[in-house]
Amino acid sequence: MSGEGSESASVMFIGEAPGFNEDKLGRPFVGAAGQVLDSLLASVGLSRESVFITNTVKCRPADNRDPLPNEITACRNFLDRQIALISPKVIVTLGRHALASFVSGETIGKAHGKSRDINGTILFPMYHPAAALHQGGLRAVIQEDMKNLLPLVIEESGSEYEESGEQMRLF
Ligand code: URA
Repeated sequence: MSGEGSESASVMFIGEAPGFNEDKLGRPFVGAAGQVLDSLLASVGLSRESVFITNTVKCRPADNRDPLPNEITACRNFLDRQIALISPKVIVTLGRHALASFVSGETIGKAHGKSRDINGTILFPMYHPAAALHQGGLRAVIQEDMKNLLPLVIEESGSEYEESGEQMRLF
């Protein structure tokens, strides 16, 4: 299970690892967290097909435990090759494990919603969509971060997502 979306996407979402449904279907974010991600994307006029979605760890950790450091390291090469192939302008990390694979020593609570430049690519950390399911209070925070991500993506990608911006302006 690797990733899916547009090969020319300017924005890449990187989650943690496949869960039960993702493992079964070989597609990222198709379970409950995926539904949250889909609705977050739709809320700013983005479709799954227009972005690229993948995970930090490519195999499902047993019993949905956190990925182990050696699993993250083992999969890093695959992730790096995906990044090189898609060449996104903006990388959105979803959750603390994806964040930690780009930046060390920062909490998701502090880093979320703030963009930074990493070797010429914009990194925009967000909470994991599943956090909206487990901690209801975070839903509004995640929604707000997604809203703030859109202008950044439009700015970085030129015309690719302009229609999404137009739709947002109508609301
Ligand atoms: N959670 C993730 O981090 N990735 C998935 O693909 C599904 C759930």
